[in-house]
Amino acid sequence: MIVMEETATAEEVDAKPYRLASLQSTHGERSVLDIDGHKVGGESFALIAGPCTVETREQTMRTARVVRDAGATLLRGGAYKPRTSPYAFQGLGLEGLRLLAEAKAETGLPIVTELMDLRDVEPVLEVADVVQIGARNMQNYPLLAEIGRCGRPALLKRGLSSTLEELLMAAEYILKEGNPNVILCERGIRTFETAYRFTLDLMAVPVLKQLTHLPVIVDPSHAAGRRELVGPLSLAAAAVGADGVIVEVHPNPDEAICDGPQALRAEEFEDYAQAVARAAALAGKALAGREPALV
Ligand code: PEP
Ligand code: MN
Repeated sequence: MIVMEETATAEEVDAKPYRLASLQSTHGERSVLDIDGHKVGGESFALIAGPCTVETREQTMRTARVVRDAGATLLRGGAYKPRTSPYAFQGLGLEGLRLLAEAKAETGLPIVTELMDLRDVEPVLEVADVVQIGARNMQNYPLLAEIGRCGRPALLKRGLSSTLEELLMAAEYILKEGNPNVILCERGIRTFETAYRFTLDLMAVPVLKQLTHLPVIVDPSHAAGRRELVGPLSLAAAAVGADGVIVEVHPNPDEAICDGPQALRAEEFEDYAQAVARAAALAGKALAGREPALV
């Protein structure tokens, strides 16, 4: 008997293990998410901003108004916080979610907030327009599958020591359950460098764009850990083609419970947004709600 050797087609040879996330799967067409009328991806540049953690009503509402007035796309804020120390403030939980709902009602900004524990799915989904999966949970597969099943848009952050392929395979867990609404986020990775908190891997942006149709945003706040780096890194992220940034803002960073040193000062946020809009224009993108910036 003659056994014919199977030869793979060129397409099979090129096929990526992340079948649904790959750019091939959409024949080169890029995904644009619509979050309550706010676009993420395509020619839009998403400015996602807000406190690291919801602390008080006053802090949340003031921050929400400032970022809304500057043209933010979404309001960020954690009610459940992944903290390195179990003794550190863990977030306000349900009360934090309630304050986020109030901020959304007043400003009209959709909310992105983190889900850490499957047991909190229900209350988080009552408030979150976008569910954040934090860097530490990037490979929490039951959590990813649950977000996939619930269908809510997900913001998936790259793990502290994860490769881009691992990030894309994590996204695949969400996509596989039938949820196509995934935003990827580069937030800095562990390297040998100790001069700053993490190393912001900006090369991930153009490389992910070659590999996947999903929108890619950048979190310079958690990468840098220092406020003065957040502006320049945001400009670089915009210029390199990111679909947006997610940054931390606080009315009084010196008194913030969490991540104060990296929080942009609320009173400086309008200038920051203008500068980012100019950088985004370099890459052909415009901040929603703003005229394309004059470079
Ligand atoms: C955050 O965005 O609040 C956060 C904790 O980020 P990361 O998961 O990237 O550390
Ligand atoms: Mn933070």
